[in-house]
Amino acid sequence: MALDVYAPCPCGSGKKLKFCCQNLAEDMDRISRLIENNQPRQALQQLEVLDRKSPGHHWVVTTRALVYLETGEVLAARDLLKYFLDQHPENEFATVLYATAVFQCDGLEAARPAIARAFQKGARRHPSMVSGLAAAMATVFRARGRLLAAREHLALSLRFAPEEQRQEIFVRLLDFDNDSTLPYLLRSAHPMPVIHAEEAITTEIRKAQKYATVGCWNTSADIFEKIAEQLPQAAEVWHGVGLCHAWDGNDDRAATALHKAAELYGDVSMAVECEAIAQILDWNSSTDRLNRMETAGTISSVGRLLTSLDAAPRLQRVELPPQDPNAPPLPAAVYQVLNLTASEFPAADQLTLENVPRSLAEVIIYDADPQVNDPAEVEVVGFDGATYDEACQLVRDAAGDLVTWTAKVPTGEFVPREIVGLSVTWWFPPKTPVALRRRLEHQRWHNAVHQTWMSTPLPALRGHTPADAATQTDLRVRLLASIYVLDAVCLRSGYALDIPEVLQALNLEGLPAAEISAETHLNSLSPLQWLRLPLDALSDEQLTAVVNRAQLIHHDRFLYDALKAVVQRPACMTELDVMRIYQTLADLCRVHERREEAFHWFAEGRQHGAQNHHNFEQVWSWDLRELLMRLEEPSDPGLAPLAQKFVTYYGPKLPQMRPYVEQMFALAGVPSPWSSPSIIMSDTLPASTGGLWTPDAAAAPAQAAGGGSGLWVPGM
Ligand SMILES: [Zn+2]
Repeated sequence: MALDVYAPCPCGSGKKLKFCCQNLAEDMDRISRLIENNQPRQALQQLEVLDRKSPGHHWVVTTRALVYLETGEVLAARDLLKYFLDQHPENEFATVLYATAVFQCDGLEAARPAIARAFQKGARRHPSMVSGLAAAMATVFRARGRLLAAREHLALSLRFAPEEQRQEIFVRLLDFDNDSTLPYLLRSAHPMPVIHAEEAITTEIRKAQKYATVGCWNTSADIFEKIAEQLPQAAEVWHGVGLCHAWDGNDDRAATALHKAAELYGDVSMAVECEAIAQILDWNSSTDRLNRMETAGTISSVGRLLTSLDAAPRLQRVELPPQDPNAPPLPAAVYQVLNLTASEFPAADQLTLENVPRSLAEVIIYDADPQVNDPAEVEVVGFDGATYDEACQLVRDAAGDLVTWTAKVPTGEFVPREIVGLSVTWWFPPKTPVALRRRLEHQRWHNAVHQTWMSTPLPALRGHTPADAATQTDLRVRLLASIYVLDAVCLRSGYALDIPEVLQALNLEGLPAAEISAETHLNSLSPLQWLRLPLDALSDEQLTAVVNRAQLIHHDRFLYDALKAVVQRPACMTELDVMRIYQTLADLCRVHERREEAFHWFAEGRQHGAQNHHNFEQVWSWDLRELLMRLEEPSDPGLAPLAQKFVTYYGPKLPQMRPYVEQMFALAGVPSPWSSPSIIMSDTLPASTGGLWTPDAAAAPAQAAGGGSGLWVPGM
């Protein structure tokens, strides 16, 4: 591609090429073709020749540095740019390249000043490089648990991304918002508060906001802190300080400022929002934590070790999924170390909250990797304490001299002490019906909330228990915030906290509904504002947008409320994937202990499906879903008639589905209806609806409606 002589000169002078470095254009054009043709060696050689002709020329130096970066010679790039920038600190392109080089050579912390300069100087003319830097920083922050910084750097990266990378970064941002392993309060956007102040201060605020738009949040935080000295009672200013520190990855200072904002806000909802975020950020700096530990060892013979561990009475081998050829190799084996031996397991119908077997630690075994000369290894991981040590001893005894052990070390993961009591890892004896497991787990969480949590002194409540704090008005904001934090903890474990029930138990009034107008920009709402949306008051258009967003964020209780609201609005339903809505409602009811209601949504979905011309496969796929759910509770009286429908009605029409349906029965531990006629009690046949059907055609609507629920259908 020939250079445009009327474009700005690549040396960064700001003049047009024709009136600046025209004399180098021919040589540089040839070099850029070498780079494009993947001949970086030749390009570098010619650049060195040019460098001798016109030493230190901006265009030549930055191009050399760029080629070094692209070929992975980051040290050479860094040193070349450092020398150059000492003499030409104003060169924008070199500033951005230097930040990239230091980041790659010396890591994020060492690169922070260089990155700040690059963001500030380079955002306008070199947006794609700023976008790349921000995306790389997001990865580091994410790995360090600095989640608000990770998300905001992704948003920054998207803002500056070149067209061809926007989609990829957008998907990363969606994946972050959709990641249910992260507390939902830290997902989604957190809008900067509006600050009303006199002219002189407004000018400063604008300056802070300008720095924030190019990712210089450290500088914005400094400016906001100066404003806070003049307006020490302004909650919004402290809120701004807190967000900027959080986006900069400084969670400690963010938490301090957000606690302060929470104390000052007159608006209780804003106060609770700041406080809830601060409480979660406090966990990163909490010293009262339970560490996850790892004890590793090298194995002399994996085969003999597996034989020994299989024979150990308190070890249970975990069934691993089939190896995905595109995924990293699975471990050779995984075991759970239990508090009981298999012979001590209670029978399924005798299981109670107290006697379900518990896991004390997990044992993971990796095969040797001869390619990188790694020996076979074993790891015992679990939360520190006497039970973990006991588990390690059990594994050592079982392994004998087949393993050479090292001392236990922390893995870096931890749980704040205050929520340790809320979760346990259960191991259900084989043949425990899924519905029973779910019921016990639901009861256990209910007790964990209403007994354990209510009576645990929390640092966020100044050492009071929630039950105690409920009687003290000055702790109201902190207590309400800690309920949302609890909600986030429960949701990560798959339990949908009933917040109104908790509020009632504490005799507390909840937060008011968010105020919404037709102009409200829904995508800029914070997670807590989402939960407070007055669903019935939203326009059809707003509610449709809310449902789409709710399906992404997956806050189960909010999603359920939003879906229940939307099925009442025919105008919205025409805009949405109706089958998916009914399927999601049924799924939410299924996993959150509303079995009967789930069948209601199956019936609604089936009725809707029967109205359109693909009715046979739609009805069939709803029947299959219902069968899967009824199989979770083998004593369900609705199972037999449905099983009969599969034998006598679908059986002759779709003989190819029989092995799959039989497999579903086998997995549920229920005898196949084809081999045990006793399960068939009724002989009424549903009327035939006819229609041509192929497995592929049936899979399409079911897949679309499945929503990742793991539902199996033939043809997938
Ligand atoms: Zn020039």
